[in-house]
Amino acid sequence: MSTVLVYAPALDHTQEGHPESSARLKGLLPVLDKFGVLPELKLIHPIPATIEQLQRAHTAGLVAYVRQVSRQGGGLLDYGDTYATAESYDLALLAAGSCCAAIDALMTGQADNGFALVRPPGHHAETDRAGGFCLFNNVAIAARQAQTVHGAKRVFILDFDVHHGNGTQDIFYQDANVLFTSIHLFAPYFYPGVGSLGETGAAKGQGYTINVPLPPRVGDEGYGRIFEEVVRPKVSAFKPDVMLVSIGFDAHWQDPLAMAGLTLTGYARLARVLLAMAGTVCDGRILFVLEGGYRLEALRYGILNVIHALLGRDDIHDPLGPMPYLEQDISPLLQQLKERHLLY
Ligand code: ZN
Repeated sequence: MSTVLVYAPALDHTQEGHPESSARLKGLLPVLDKFGVLPELKLIHPIPATIEQLQRAHTAGLVAYVRQVSRQGGGLLDYGDTYATAESYDLALLAAGSCCAAIDALMTGQADNGFALVRPPGHHAETDRAGGFCLFNNVAIAARQAQTVHGAKRVFILDFDVHHGNGTQDIFYQDANVLFTSIHLFAPYFYPGVGSLGETGAAKGQGYTINVPLPPRVGDEGYGRIFEEVVRPKVSAFKPDVMLVSIGFDAHWQDPLAMAGLTLTGYARLARVLLAMAGTVCDGRILFVLEGGYRLEALRYGILNVIHALLGRDDIHDPLGPMPYLEQDISPLLQQLKERHLLY
């Protein structure tokens, strides 16, 4: 087993008081070092994505727009709070390029699995639009790298950041070669407001988008059921050549932006379920790509626990403990999902 790690923390892409700041990844490596995992990982040097790599997922117009705002010293990229600094364009290239480099390592057999610890995040960036703290869609660009450069026919992308992966959905909505599944909190006024059960793809991609819109406080057991009863059968039938995971630690019960109810132990178990699935369907090729997560302790221990799992270790650290509320029963939602996606 070998695990590749690429670390592109984008320290100059930051804004004081913003939840998606450099504080999220600054100082992470000493934490990983303290737990003895660093020497066991293959560290890849971050490299910038090429324009060609970006434009496999985005329009030339979006690439030029982000570049222009950044080159002019920075500013807002949308009507919300997606910011750019003077360095953000280059750092966003580094995030996307690092994910491609990790895919290269997996697809050429230099590593079995990996984790791309990158900023800015990517899953809200649509074909022609930045948004939700995301500039370019790292996971989508990595998926295209696997297909275009390495001949992967089918790619499975699971997104279990607490927010819907609207950007990734947009990019692959009509694509039957990329199965996209997003598990997210779906509530009034909760960003980005899309990702309903009925959004299932279009044209040739009909049926290749699966949305799992959750009520608050689903917790470990509910997420575990979704992985077993929806994700596993879909992945087994789809037979991907590689699995990509948009992982956000903002589904942790202490995250300040949401209330999905996962614990650190829950995250660690779900990571192992995904690793086992990858072992069954695609020789273990799985790349985790960091998205959100705004409670720093949950983010750090969450990352550490996924790395333990990738390395085949049993260790799980959960200093934040269980969710102090009752978990929501999602049996009716699971029933609806099975009917809609023919899971019998
Ligand atoms: Zn998020």
